[in-house]
Amino acid sequence: MTASEARSSNVPHQQYDVIVVGAGFAGMYLLHRLRGQGYKVRVFEQGSGVGGTWYWNRYPGARCDVESMQYSYSFSDELQQQWDWSERYAPQPEILAYANHVADRFDLRRDIQFDTRVEAAVFDERAQRWTVTTSDGAVSSAQFVVLATGCLSNARMPDIAGAADFKGAIYHTAHWPHQAVDFTGQRVGVIGTGSSAIQSIPLIAEQAARLTVFQRTANFSVPARNAPLTAEERQWFRDNYPEFRRKAREEMRNGIFTEPPVKGAFDDPDEVRLRNYEGRWTRGGLTFMAAYNNLGLEKAANDTAADFIRSKIAEIVKDPEVARKLQPSDHPVGSKRICVDTDYYATFNRDNVELVDLRADPIDRITADGLRAGGRDYPLDAIVFATGFDAMTGSVAKIAIKGRAGRALNDKWAEGPRTYLGLMTAGFPNLFIITGPGSPSVLSNMILSIEQHVDWIADCLVAMRQRGALCIEASKRAEDDWVAHVNEVAAGTLYPQANSWYMGANVPGKPRVFMPYIGGVGVYRQICNEVAAKGYEGFVMSGGSTAERHAATSERAAAS
Ligand code: FAD
Ligand code: NAP
Repeated sequence: MTASEARSSNVPHQQYDVIVVGAGFAGMYLLHRLRGQGYKVRVFEQGSGVGGTWYWNRYPGARCDVESMQYSYSFSDELQQQWDWSERYAPQPEILAYANHVADRFDLRRDIQFDTRVEAAVFDERAQRWTVTTSDGAVSSAQFVVLATGCLSNARMPDIAGAADFKGAIYHTAHWPHQAVDFTGQRVGVIGTGSSAIQSIPLIAEQAARLTVFQRTANFSVPARNAPLTAEERQWFRDNYPEFRRKAREEMRNGIFTEPPVKGAFDDPDEVRLRNYEGRWTRGGLTFMAAYNNLGLEKAANDTAADFIRSKIAEIVKDPEVARKLQPSDHPVGSKRICVDTDYYATFNRDNVELVDLRADPIDRITADGLRAGGRDYPLDAIVFATGFDAMTGSVAKIAIKGRAGRALNDKWAEGPRTYLGLMTAGFPNLFIITGPGSPSVLSNMILSIEQHVDWIADCLVAMRQRGALCIEASKRAEDDWVAHVNEVAAGTLYPQANSWYMGANVPGKPRVFMPYIGGVGVYRQICNEVAAKGYEGFVMSGGSTAERHAATSERAAAS
């Protein structure tokens, strides 16, 4: 049968052991690991290159907010010893260069098909294989499908009336053009004040004739204190990599190596607590939230950190009215992802920058010449949407995934995502998710969490091969227990109090469920390891013979 005949008859014309969707850091490492174990792997990537997040998010100021010596692969010691990060927080072009270096170094490209979207994946119960349809019209089949589709990869363009009428240029931070955008002399509007906006606003302000920032919710941001990395600093990390990577994996809640907090905010007298916050503010970075161990748990403790940041905003921003608008007041600090910036608040002291409070003056519409909010027209030459993502489930939901009995994943997840360990979902055998909902994922140093999931899945596939098992599936009971645990742990924190993208609150109509697992990466890793050590407890493995399939069906029925 020719490829075109196969396409028209929907008969798979390419057979793989594993199809991986996405060639970000997750898909790349997965390909490397599985190929090393002898699997025939195909990666489909809708972009034209590797790097995922760092391929798409090319806006001015884009850089990581986990320090580069930590926000990097640890699976190859040679790689981590040899790659030179230039700054404490590498800029996007350097992280993308790193991704390309990894692709070349491990010869990944020959198994990645770029410019190809996975449109559908359907489980064939008779063959116990997935049939995958891609945007080039091809149909492939694989025993396993792994969704390495990214948690922050489905950019959200809010539905604002009149966008089609706008005569100027429209950008989204997550779909930034590959050539530099020059705002010199232009009147620019930025919609949103999350991490992407907070990184880009200071640089756009330096270039634009006038910048108007449209803020719906003020966000907490701490200074990055970015700086070039010295050879000595790099060497210190390199010499200590084994120990601090281990600590990051096993002892830290978020997979970022730092001195863990040992006491609560009220264990220190006021002046000592202020000194602690001041020290962390001066040092910069996400570890501000590691000042005390109860900041994410107790509102009164959290208030002390929030008050400190609000006082800093008041100190930096000269106009008290603008400072007041920039001071977050509707959510505990950290319950929305805290931002890390370079000169964000000080940017509002510039004469060419204006802040519009959309709570007081909501957007009416986009017009041909700009944006109207609260009845006032803001003439603009360009609008930058820094409006975020349909996070964690958005890219999965765009694929028409059907599991047992033709059930659609989107139907199963209509009330919110349900997984066992964030790795699999019952009724969808041999379908894995990397950093899926129900795992620490976006609450962690994601490269570390990606490596943990990839290693777990790769080991699981080898265990299946050794047993002669063809299928693995999460049992419904294990999934129900895990979802209950994820919810219970979240409910004991301040996180569900915010209208955050962790809760799906930024997407109209999305169910409000706290999606990541907040129990900490160390605890989570231990749970995953124990599950594997107990013969993949909570998962049902089944073999190839008819008798084994019947046995598995009974086991599944009993488990649910
Ligand atoms: P991604 O990098 O998102 O890659 C997924 C890939 O899958 C994409 O290339 C996408 O095109 C592709 N894809 C999706 N659906 C399909 C489909 N149907 N068919 C084909 N291809 C598909 N995390 C941190 O820990 N520290 C940081 O400092 C940090 N900074 C960030 C900065 C920005 C601007 C953003 C947006 C996120 C940041 N993150 C950070 C989170 C970041 O997403 C992860 O760290 C990590 O890069 C995710 O890698 P991934 O491979 O899982 O997903
Ligand atoms: P985000 O945090 O979701 O921020 C989106 C912003 O757009 C919010 O201020 C939101 O306001 C606003 N918004 C959305 N829809 C709007 C509408 N219709 N009208 C007006 N305002 C609207 O998205 P992001 O900034 O892209 O960041 C997403 C995540 O990516 C981060 O939390 C982080 O995990 C990661 N990231 C990291 C870095 C880094 O520093 N390394 C940089 C960028 C992104 P509301 O808050 O009111 O919804």
